[in-house]
Formats: sequence, structure tokens, C-alpha cells
Amino acid sequence: MEDCVFCKIIKGDIPSYKIYEDDFVYAFLDINPSSPGHTLVVPKKHSENIFDIEKDDLKQVIFASKEIAQKMRDLGCAVLIYIIIMEQYRDKLFFIFIFISFRVV
Ligand SMILES: [Zn+2]
Repeated sequence: MEDCVFCKIIKGDIPSYKIYEDDFVYAFLDINPSSPGHTLVVPKKHSENIFDIEKDDLKQVIFASKEIAQKMRDLGCAVLIYIIIMEQYRDKLFFIFIFISFRVV
């Protein structure tokens, strides 16, 4: 979707600090973090809502979130995971994402 900020981030049109990437998922630090390590994990294929996303894309977002969280935990960080499926996020655009927060303890 051309107007989607997340799609622009995934394509590299908007710079981001990448945490993780594979064929299905892109994870990056939020530019306005609500907590330390505020990371967004999003599917590379644009989805507008829970009814729109394909099962495999949703699975991959969950699996990647677990992998990211496990790596941070192994590094000694406290990890909080919020699974958020929003149909509206900034600029009235639609996307699905998972929010992970890391904190060094
Ligand atoms: Zn998008």
C-alpha cells in the first residue's frame, strides 16, 4: 500500500533501526518509544485487519516475535510482549503489528 508508513519503512523509503528481518517479517525500533526497546514487529505483506492477513503471515509475525524476545531474554533483558492488532495506527492507516519492549535488568 503506497500510503502506508510501515510499508515505506519495510521498503527502506523511510529509515529505521532494524532489529530483525526475514522473508515475511520486519521488526524495528519505534521512533517514539513508549518504553525502552519499543520494537514493532510487522508482516512485510500489508494487511488492513485481522480478516485481511493470511494465516501464514500472522504465524510468521508471532514466531519472529518469540525469536526476538528469546534472543533479548538470553542477553539478560527483561522482555514484555504486547500482541496488538490495531486497525488504526498513526495517520489513520491500518496495519497489524506486535509490540515488544526490552529492558536491561
Ligand atoms: Zn502497509
